[in-house]
Amino acid sequence: MTNDEECTAGPVQIEVPVDSGQTKEQNQLLLLALKFKQSLTNDCLEDIMKILNVVGGSDSACRTKYSVYKAFDDTKDIMKICYVCEQCCNIMSAELDQVHCVQCNITYDKASRFTNNFFIYLSLEDQIKNLLRMPGITDELIGRQTETSTSLSDICDGFLYQKALSGSETALQTLSLTFSCDGVPVFKKSPCSIWPLFCTINELPLKTRQDNVLLCGLWFRDEKPHMRSFLKPFIDECVDLQDSGFTWENDKGVSVNTKAIPLILMSDSVARPLIQNFKQFNGEYGCSYCLHEGKVVEKGRGFTRVPRVPRSVTLRKFWKAHEWYMWLFYYSLPVLKGVLPEPLLNHWSKIVKGVSLLLGENITREQITESEALLTDFVKDMEVFYGEANLSYNVHLCLHLPRSVVNWGPLWTHSAFVFESYNAKLLDMNKNTQGVALQIVKMFWLQKALPFYG
Ligand SMILES: [Zn+2]
Ligand SMILES: [Zn+2]
Repeated sequence: MTNDEECTAGPVQIEVPVDSGQTKEQNQLLLLALKFKQSLTNDCLEDIMKILNVVGGSDSACRTKYSVYKAFDDTKDIMKICYVCEQCCNIMSAELDQVHCVQCNITYDKASRFTNNFFIYLSLEDQIKNLLRMPGITDELIGRQTETSTSLSDICDGFLYQKALSGSETALQTLSLTFSCDGVPVFKKSPCSIWPLFCTINELPLKTRQDNVLLCGLWFRDEKPHMRSFLKPFIDECVDLQDSGFTWENDKGVSVNTKAIPLILMSDSVARPLIQNFKQFNGEYGCSYCLHEGKVVEKGRGFTRVPRVPRSVTLRKFWKAHEWYMWLFYYSLPVLKGVLPEPLLNHWSKIVKGVSLLLGENITREQITESEALLTDFVKDMEVFYGEANLSYNVHLCLHLPRSVVNWGPLWTHSAFVFESYNAKLLDMNKNTQGVALQIVKMFWLQKALPFYG
């Protein structure tokens, strides 16, 4: 097996011979799978390779971690490094050893410190093609509803989904994409963040959708991305995918043309205005869903791992999204009974029931109307019970949840949880401070190629 022949971007199939010896490449692939599964350090990986070379003969495995990674690295085929001009923030054109900003008419050496300002883009088309070629995937594509269904059970039942996809009959003709962009702090004592640009295919069943998140871009800096530059290759590619689509060969050797439309952006209230080039949510008229004038309270955010067992209520300052989820839907009502005065408990129960209804598997129009009434009451009485200062933007957003379900199906179809768990995986892949962005992209790609990584 050579790098060029076998290690294409799709899943790598390894057939382990029963009686003949393992090849060096097979050994290395197994080692990489072990490394990812057990989160081994590179030093540990090198030590195991040394042992293999002693036990199995001197050529059983590579000698250094670099040669292992190099043997399976085909990111160069789909990865593009985009250098951003420090002066005007435009993407510079890159030649062999130099980069050039047309706007400012400046040329830099690629090795100069001015070229540290870059981000990585990975072709969406290649990744979708690879995904569609995976055995059984096209059979999983969800059939599109042709008429408005009476209840909402997935994204394809949503009003805006149906409107956008109305001209196309099958998912093989036109796919739709949900993408997400959000910053994740990398180091405790530094302002550096990674900003992954993730994509999922809406027409796959939820589990397959979650298992096959595509990574299209990665920004790593001590400042937020210049969205105009960072999203440019993505937008350019999406325009092509929507207008002309791409041609690929299915498992029967038939050539198929598939288009892809970006439909939903997942981001939090901090990243959303950056991406939309819109006012920050704490500004006047800061809600991008309505014309409410608003006066809102900013909340901080961060990202760390979520423990499986909920932490004490006294630690709620440190709770993460998943813990708030468990609190809201499972613990809060029984725990607060007898603690909160009856009117306040009744008020709280409105958000619990209102949001629960929108997370159902098969949501009826009546349930949406009921949820709308509960959430409107909840927001209205928030000021009465807790004062204007606590009528925050997040409380206001509750008013928009029922409409979001009408447009895109149950809340879980467009929840950020999927992408947040991938953020944790990306951070796990970064074991040192050098070349963070490149290292993460290469590890992400390598893991996708390992069929037994889990
Ligand atoms: Zn410039
Ligand atoms: Zn609003």
